[in-house]
Amino acid sequence: MASAPLIPASPALARVARGDLCAGCGACAALAPGRIAMETVAPGYLRPRQLAPLDAGQTAAIAAVCPGLGQDVQAAGRADPVLWGPYTDVMTGWARDPQVRFAGSSGGALSAILMHLIASGVVDAVVQTGAAPDLAIGNATTVSVAETAIIAAAGSRYAPSAPLADLAAQVASGKRFAFVGKPCDVAALRAMMARDPAIAAAFPVVLSFFCAGVPSHAGGRAVLAALGTDLDQTVRFRFRGNGWPGQATATDHTGQTRAMSYHDSWGKILSKHVQHRCKICADGTGTAADIVCADAWESDTAGYPVFAEADGISLIVARTPLGAELIAAAHAAGRIETQAFDINTLAAIQPGQRERRRALLARLTALRLLGRPVPRYTGLQILAAARQNPLRRNLKNLLGTLRRALRPRA
Ligand SMILES: Cc1cc2nc3c(=O)[nH]c(=O)nc-3n(C[C@H](O)[C@H](O)[C@H](O)COP(=O)(O)OP(=O)(O)OC[C@H]3O[C@@H](n4cnc5c(N)ncnc54)[C@H](O)[C@@H]3O)c2cc1C
Ligand code: SF4
Ligand code: SF4
Repeated sequence: MASAPLIPASPALARVARGDLCAGCGACAALAPGRIAMETVAPGYLRPRQLAPLDAGQTAAIAAVCPGLGQDVQAAGRADPVLWGPYTDVMTGWARDPQVRFAGSSGGALSAILMHLIASGVVDAVVQTGAAPDLAIGNATTVSVAETAIIAAAGSRYAPSAPLADLAAQVASGKRFAFVGKPCDVAALRAMMARDPAIAAAFPVVLSFFCAGVPSHAGGRAVLAALGTDLDQTVRFRFRGNGWPGQATATDHTGQTRAMSYHDSWGKILSKHVQHRCKICADGTGTAADIVCADAWESDTAGYPVFAEADGISLIVARTPLGAELIAAAHAAGRIETQAFDINTLAAIQPGQRERRRALLARLTALRLLGRPVPRYTGLQILAAARQNPLRRNLKNLLGTLRRALRPRA
């Protein structure tokens, strides 16, 4: 039997695969349509599959934009706090429409800003992520124009998404889009925009959210199992939203719902299924976006975030002058309410982001010692973040990463 012809692997994709560095953004598939496709691999992550040899231009473009290989951040005169990256303005806020505020993951500010961008003609449509039609715990990229579609896609979905994979078709449409993606997605998109004016013209506004990491579909299935159900019985699944933080909620064929708190679903299950790239992510706060939203948790007397159900409040960060201008315009148009926020209080209510940034140097050092490929980060103040940890904590992180990396894989 004739064997399949060998396809010379892209060196960039080979390095990413060797280090398990893929974030699953889909940029490589967008840059090599028909030659790279995104597919789901065990235990349920989105990964590129190379189907045909790449030309030199595609090879170079992927090497330049893939967030698995690295990221470059330039403060360019903006305030640049060590843990949070460059920004021009920060506040809290929420959607003034109670339906949007309720549907949103936090205060629905991100969805309300998207609605303003369409209503005011800044963009024609929004590229965002909603539930997959054929997999209740999965995601699909959607192009939304109607407010009902934006509300349907509101709420965080803690599962893989590759919102850049269909970019070529969006650029070819000649329309202008607001893009919503994970910080790694928007870092790749910015790098693509810098290389290709047609992509820059198609995406005049880029939005993101703080991101602690993407769990596999195995994580979603584990939540269903803990709820006493499974994929076969589930027709709809929300990870959160419909309240703040809102519950992970599975709906079966009869309309019966089973629900679990955010503290239990994310804290005890989903966070244990996060992909490797996310554990060494230097930019979980969306430094490449114009506007970033996050949870503006209340904190208790000990300074820890409180996850009790409440009316949602989004943290809203303008990273660029354009972002600040659009937030002000959404406020003036009555789409969002805003309040002042002191960025010095952010470390207390975002312990996950804080600790990952401080641990990053130790984790990267451990992987380098083992000869494992790691992303090349510039401008992300990794040394300054590590200095916020005592030496003992950095050593503990280094040894912990060495131990986990050397553990035989199941
Ligand atoms: C994987 C993940 C990890 C997160 N980690 C943190 C964290 O550590 N700290 C924190 O404060 N917040 C985190 N969030 C974000 C947070 O839950 C809220 O999305 C954010 O606070 C904005 O709330 P909102 O109500 O303003 O947004 P909404 O109005 O609810 O809008 C959310 C937007 O995000 C898009 N979206 C949802 N899921 C995905 C996905 N998987 N991929 C791409 N786009 C998606 C939706 O299409 C929608 O446009 C995370 C979200 C995700 C998806
Ligand atoms: S991180 Fe994105 S660009 Fe890099 S290999 Fe994975 S899907 Fe492709
Ligand atoms: S943690 Fe970082 S690498 Fe992982 S999905 Fe979020 S932004 Fe991407």
